[in-house]
Amino acid sequence: KNMEKVLEVSGLTKTYKNKRGIYDINFEIYRGEIFGFLGPNGAGKTTAMKIMTGLMRADSGDVKIFGHSIHDSFESAMEKVGCIIETVESYPYMTAYENLKQASRYYRDIDDKRIDEVLEITGLIKYKAERTKNFSLGMKQRLGIASSILSRPELVILDEPLNGLDVEGMVEMRRLIKHLSDTQNSTFLISSHLIHDVELTCNKIGIILDGKMLSIDYTDNILANYASLENYFIS
Ligand code: ATP
Repeated sequence: KNMEKVLEVSGLTKTYKNKRGIYDINFEIYRGEIFGFLGPNGAGKTTAMKIMTGLMRADSGDVKIFGHSIHDSFESAMEKVGCIIETVESYPYMTAYENLKQASRYYRDIDDKRIDEVLEITGLIKYKAERTKNFSLGMKQRLGIASSILSRPELVILDEPLNGLDVEGMVEMRRLIKHLSDTQNSTFLISSHLIHDVELTCNKIGIILDGKMLSIDYTDNILANYASLENYFIS
């Protein structure tokens, strides 16, 4: 069994002024996993994900991606990462294609064929020539994912990819993540405040509460050991 470590988070701590963001967060993700980062609003998920992707600095601790620390080899670490943190912004007066063309300029070797591919994968190919200002939230989320996977990242980090979607949109998004995991050989870290989101998608779950990691385990064990988990996540 291949147990290559894709992401290693150790001792991650961040305080905002006098308020705790996250405290001593530790976990590992192995190749092929879909890891669910579960916690209620304000638990610290976004803070941790911002640090992991270099958008914010931790007070202490380290993040290694494929063995590269974001502190001393940020570019090598980020080379294989695709992410969406917080809101998905697109250029509203550009088409879906033009938005992806714009995003592709950050990478080498992304041609129109690859853009069509990610539009196809995310179910947006028929909207290729439509301006994104008319897109539903679900379509915008999918365009965000299309953009994040353009460069075939081996690790995809998504902050609340199911947020704001209607039931059908959620089903589609879960299916899309599973499909990407199966076909693109990507490893996923996805956050959510809803147990239902992660139990259906993730093989492992880490629960974060008040900035601290409460538990990390395989999904089945988490579900078996935390019968009353829903009480935490009614938000
Ligand atoms: P959400 O899903 O609501 O984004 P979260 O689990 O991602 O929740 P964070 O956004 O990481 O949680 O917030 C963790 C804690 O840090 C919260 O108490 C929040 O109020 C606080 N916090 C986050 N960003 C800042 C900031 N820029 N300045 C001060 N406090 C902040």
